[in-house]
This record gives sequence, structure tokens and C-alpha cells, in this order.
Amino acid sequence: MTHETIPSLLDRTDPDVRAILGRVLDGQEISWQEALRLCETSGVGFQATVYSADELRRRQAGDIVTYVINRNVNFTNVCVKHCGFCAFSRPYRNVEGYFLPIQEIVRRAREAADMGATEICMQAGLPPDMDGNFYVDLTRAVKKAVPDMHIHAFSPEEVLYGATRSGASISDYLAVLKEAGLGSLPGTSEEILDQDIRDVISPGRITVRQWIEVITTAHSLGIPTTSTIMYGHIETPVHWVKHMNLLRDIQHETHGFTEFVPLSMIHQEAPMYHHHLAPRLRPGPSGIEVVKMHAVARLMLGASIRNIQSSWVKEGPKFAQYLLTAGANDIGGTLINESISTSAGAQYGQLVQPRELRRLIRDAGRAPAQRKTTYELLQVYSSDDDSTVPLDLVDDAGARFGSYRQLTGSKEFRFARRPRTRAASCAAQRHSAIAGRRWTACGQAPQEWPRVQQPRASWSVGEGSWMDRGRFDQDFPGRKQACQYEGDFKAVCRAWNQRRQ
Ligand code: SF4
Repeated sequence: MTHETIPSLLDRTDPDVRAILGRVLDGQEISWQEALRLCETSGVGFQATVYSADELRRRQAGDIVTYVINRNVNFTNVCVKHCGFCAFSRPYRNVEGYFLPIQEIVRRAREAADMGATEICMQAGLPPDMDGNFYVDLTRAVKKAVPDMHIHAFSPEEVLYGATRSGASISDYLAVLKEAGLGSLPGTSEEILDQDIRDVISPGRITVRQWIEVITTAHSLGIPTTSTIMYGHIETPVHWVKHMNLLRDIQHETHGFTEFVPLSMIHQEAPMYHHHLAPRLRPGPSGIEVVKMHAVARLMLGASIRNIQSSWVKEGPKFAQYLLTAGANDIGGTLINESISTSAGAQYGQLVQPRELRRLIRDAGRAPAQRKTTYELLQVYSSDDDSTVPLDLVDDAGARFGSYRQLTGSKEFRFARRPRTRAASCAAQRHSAIAGRRWTACGQAPQEWPRVQQPRASWSVGEGSWMDRGRFDQDFPGRKQACQYEGDFKAVCRAWNQRRQ
């Protein structure tokens, strides 16, 4: 459908919606307020928005739909944080906590390469006492074993954690990762870039400012990243469009984003859903919201971030296929293994084979193409080309590659906390000093921070420093979890300081 063939649909929409869609189809950028108006449409206005997004997709990205053959390795589920939407993380004492050693991750990368994969995606929890060089050592080992594999790894939260644990600046840490072989960063840990929302759904998570710092620093070093949004919880459409507006501003500056991936919140096993921890929490987005998100993303971002991905992991293959008609031009990767959405209750996640992805794309009337992580095309498939890669021939992915349930149930890779060595304790002290220094840099006096107490009577507020438990309970009633590192430390500092003003 072209701009010329949809005037009857546009004619029947409200004049302000018609004007916005007309402007975007004429190649102009729309403001977040105009995008918000599109989010409010229903009926004919909604249909016109979706058709316009599909038309814009055709003009910006053509009829090719891309996918990448990749393998996910969520190498540990042990994490010091407690994000309210995350059913994946386990405390270090939990019997389901696992940690894959580097040689096992390398084995998985080699196996993926043998199956035809071009990308390994590595993201995980934040294990306590992690050696700050672990991410660098891991990257180097995978690159050495499989030099042609693109390493897409470490969310901004993990980059911040690695930098903090090693005492390096974000810039220096990213530079070392790049030198070790890192190809790109996932723009995850992004959720909604609104600090008030983050403080409710994931208190202590990487802040908006820190996320931007990691991403823009990566871009400045020539490390591309993806971008995402997690929606369907306590946010509203105004948060969607402001989030996209921020991404668009960054992209204008850096041109470092390769794609935008809307991610529905999977609520089934999310702690904040189970335990009613957040007011007005929704059980993920509605179907209409999912369609609107992809359509508005195309209309608002498509000129600057060309690739809009529909996620079969979150939406299921059939709905992901439908979203190809609502602005999306990419259907993601094969994954092979996935733990984060699976643990939250998603029914999809192990594997969709390349041949099946191509079938979904062709059934949507489009042309499939295998791409690299950074969107260079590797092969465009003609309608009668049904060539296969070894991954297409696997019958039982769980038996062949292992599953998340096997990982959490097996003793083979059970997480064992490193003995607290002198070096580790020094790292903790250095970390505490870093956190204190940054707090000071915010204009606060570190000596006014509650003094060090006996740990057993205290809550941890950043490794190596402790807040008196009585004062914690008094000032943060109902907050049950200990704060484990700088993100939590700063969130508590912020709240603490506000109360003192
Ligand atoms: S989302 Fe990431 S940082 Fe948050 S609890 Fe889960 S694994 Fe940890």
C-alpha cells in the first residue's frame, strides 16, 4: 500500500492524526507529543497509523526481512541485584544458582560456529565478588577460539559492574573490551529511561544517566549497540515516546544504534507481579499496545534507527510475524539458548531454526535475508532457495544444546562463591571508596553517611560499607533487600539525601 492508495483511510481519521501521518510520510520528523497522539488512536486512526508505519518501513528498509544466526549464553543467573521484573536472577546461596566456566562458554561458542552461527550474545547476572577482568578474559578467550564470531555482549549494567569492580573508568574498560574482541553491546538494562519508573520497578539498577554514559561512550569508541524498551508494566505511552525521543537524540549525535527492539514485559514469574510490589502494574502489554509500539517506533525512529525488530521470544513466532506488517523489518536471531525470558514465563526461547524464520518471513509476503549483527546482508534468499545450515537439521534443541531448566537443576555448574581473599576484600574497599567519592562529587559529605557498623547488624550499602539496620528500617520502611553495589548505593543515597533536605 502506498501513500497514494491510503488517502481514503487517512480521510476518515481525525484531522490532527491525518496531519501527523501526512507529515511523517512526507519524510519529516515528528515530535514526541505527536507520537503520543498516535499512541492514543483507536479504530480508523489506529489502522491508519499501522498502515502508515508499514508504508514507511517499505520506503526505509524495503521488503527484505532480516535475521541473524546467533547463540545466547546467559552464563550465570547469580546476581547481586533484585530487579522487580527479573525472574532469572538467584542469590548466590540459592541451589539453582549456576555459573558457566569460561571453557564451557568457549565450547558453546565453537558449537554455535559449527552450526552456522555468526554471533554469540553473552549477558548474565552480576555475581558477587566477580573479578573485574572476568568480562575481558571471557571476551578474549571466545575471540581466540572462534576468531570470526561476532561477540555481542555485556549490557551497560554489566559494563558498569565490570568497570566498577576493576576500578577502571567506563571508557577505559570499554576500550579494553574492544581490544579483547568485543564487537557490539546489547542496549539492554534500558527498560524505560525514566528514573522515577526505574526507582519503582528496579531500585538500584543502573541509572538513566549511567546508561547514557555507557552507551555514548561505547559509540564514541566505535562500538555499536542495540537499543530496546521494556513495556507493559507501570509505564504509560508518554514514557514510550519520551524514551524513543531520547534514543533519537543520542542517535543524531552518535549514529551508534543498529536497531530498536521493543520487549514486552513477561509477567508470569516476575517477582513484582507475584508479590504485588508495584502499584498499577500491568501483566505485560495488550496486543493492541504491542502493535502500536512497533508502528510508532517505525514512525518516530525509522529515519534515524532504520531497523525495528519484532521479538519472537517475547511475542511468539506468529505475532512476531504479524508485526512485520506494522513497521518491523527484522525478526531477530535463532538464539539456540535463552534463559531470561524463559525464566520469566515466556513459552518461546530455546530456538527457532533459520529455515522456520525464512518460512515466517515468506508467509508474510517478504524476502528473507541472513544478516550479520551489524546488519550487513550475508545472503538474500530467493523464493525457491531452501538451502540449509547445520542448525536446520537439529531435531531436539533441548537435548542437543541443553536447556535453562537443565542448567538450574544440575550440579555440574553450580555457583560457588570465591573464597574472600585479600585481593577481593581490597577490591571491595576500593569499590566502596569509588562509591563514596562519586557521592561526594554529587555535593554530599561522605562523613555524614551512616558510619560503618558490624555487618551482621546492618544492611550493606555498597560492598565494604554498611548502614545501621535500625536507621535503614526507619528511613526505608518495607525495603527488604540489601543494597549490593554502586547502583543501589546511589539510589539509597539519593533517597537519603532527599529526606535530609
Ligand atoms: S535484570 Fe539483570 S541485574 Fe537485574 S536482577 Fe536480573 S540479572 Fe540481575
